[in-house]
Amino acid sequence: MPSETRPDRGADLILTGGRVLTMDPGMPVVEALAVSDGLVSAVGRADDILEMAGSGTETIDIGGLTAVPGFNDTHAHMDREGLKSHRPSLEGATSVPDVLDRIAKLAAETPPGEWIVTMPVGAPPCYFGGPESLAEGRMPTRGELDAAAPDNPVCIAGVFGNWGAPPGYTALNSLALELNGIDRDTVPRVSGLEIERDEAGEPTGVIVEYNQRPFVEFDLLPAVPRFGLEERVDGICRSMRAYNAVGTTSVYEGHGLSAQTIAAYRDLWEKGELTVRVALTLSPAWRDVAEARTVMRDWLSHARGRGMGDPWLWITGVHIAYGGEGAVADLAREDLPNTGWSGFVEQAVTRNEFRDYCLAAAEHDLRVHTIVGDDLGDVVPALVEVGERYPVGERRWVVEHIGRARREDLETLKELGVLVTTIPAYFVWKGGGWYVDDPDFGDSVVAHRTMLDLGIPVAAGTDNIPYDPFFTLWVMTTRRERRDNRVLGPDQRISGLEALDLLTTRGAWLTFEEERKGRLTPGRYADIAVLSDDPTAIDPENLRDLRCRLTVAGGRVVHRDL
Ligand SMILES: [Zn+2]
Repeated sequence: MPSETRPDRGADLILTGGRVLTMDPGMPVVEALAVSDGLVSAVGRADDILEMAGSGTETIDIGGLTAVPGFNDTHAHMDREGLKSHRPSLEGATSVPDVLDRIAKLAAETPPGEWIVTMPVGAPPCYFGGPESLAEGRMPTRGELDAAAPDNPVCIAGVFGNWGAPPGYTALNSLALELNGIDRDTVPRVSGLEIERDEAGEPTGVIVEYNQRPFVEFDLLPAVPRFGLEERVDGICRSMRAYNAVGTTSVYEGHGLSAQTIAAYRDLWEKGELTVRVALTLSPAWRDVAEARTVMRDWLSHARGRGMGDPWLWITGVHIAYGGEGAVADLAREDLPNTGWSGFVEQAVTRNEFRDYCLAAAEHDLRVHTIVGDDLGDVVPALVEVGERYPVGERRWVVEHIGRARREDLETLKELGVLVTTIPAYFVWKGGGWYVDDPDFGDSVVAHRTMLDLGIPVAAGTDNIPYDPFFTLWVMTTRRERRDNRVLGPDQRISGLEALDLLTTRGAWLTFEEERKGRLTPGRYADIAVLSDDPTAIDPENLRDLRCRLTVAGGRVVHRDL
């Protein structure tokens, strides 16, 4: 019911006493905002807005702070965050004895025979350094872990490459090695895995993994407990609290999610417990193009076209990977419904298969999302070929994880009308060291300036590295890489306002919601983040220090620190 039909109750919520950045070029800054029925009902001068107050109004004085549209994290991997607190942390352990002390304490409270699986060594959220973060520069050995936990299988998990950085170091005690059938003769089936051995050829308990996404659990650790549906549901609840606390009110999961991960979201949606709007892309488990065609034809009608759902949960399109190792995809598929940390299904797709999958998807009106990294040039010809027969731009196909890209390929994306999402924290900050020796000093890596100038519809995501949008705003505006703090491709830096736009309004294109979401104007979702300072006015170097003091999602306060 529109608020004006019940003047006695007034608006549901009024924010006043600060600045509101509407992201509407027609009226970019206002003093106050009113919310009714989950939507922004009015914006303008404080005096005018306060006249809309009534008996049912909660009025919040935001104390001089700045309200912006809630963040739309367009590559969020939100399901992962909450899972991190499901496993005991080793945070603060700076030596092997520290680690062993923690393990001994966990053993004392764990019934004999039950697994102890911890988070990696190192400091969260990225756990960089692994064993180098311990005084001895090494992981505990099986013998040391045996002494700390003689009656429990122990696994200190290695890092997950997306929120950490390989190599990952897994440490197991003797019981854990035995339960997983690892002995002196064990040989990994996939590349990038190394079972450390002592002089006598016996496993030391340490497994080193060089792959970006760890496959150790799929290949070598069948007995280590997996995250199940219950953990995923609970993990998402924890994640939503964390994402809301930094002002995030929408996520787009274009990397695709497995059936189990989607089931976890669906469970919360059915109970009305989602406090972040989620748009989910399917991560398929088919083996080849023939099977894909059958699945697309018979099972994926709900993901066709724009997709299906409501403003809180939306299912849309499929993720088709490019690249990947066949042996890995096979092992990962055998382990389903488990998908480990990733939450999606590993695929292995050659260049020709990629084209065939895309054509099949286009035929069934399934919009495609593709992770390209530095391989945009390999993917573009297939998109062009599909684009000759189907309107991929109108259907809003999406290219994700864009890393180093040639200008001509970006121009082709513009011509096709394909959407782009970026993960600056991954390619510019965390991985920036890969590109500092490029002749253009990284100018072609996550080239926001070029993409904006070309008019490519581009939106940004955190990739859960960390999930904090302020960190990603800082990366987009400063382009500092992690290793040496150097500025990668300085001409690609964008302003605070442009960066904010990429993380708030532009994501609405991905869900065809640009008339409903993103800006704080009447009739749009009341998704709002109140920040400790104005991200468009402060020195970009300080963007990473911003905090979110109040978050409103669909008109409801979901985080408050005022
Ligand atoms: Zn991703």
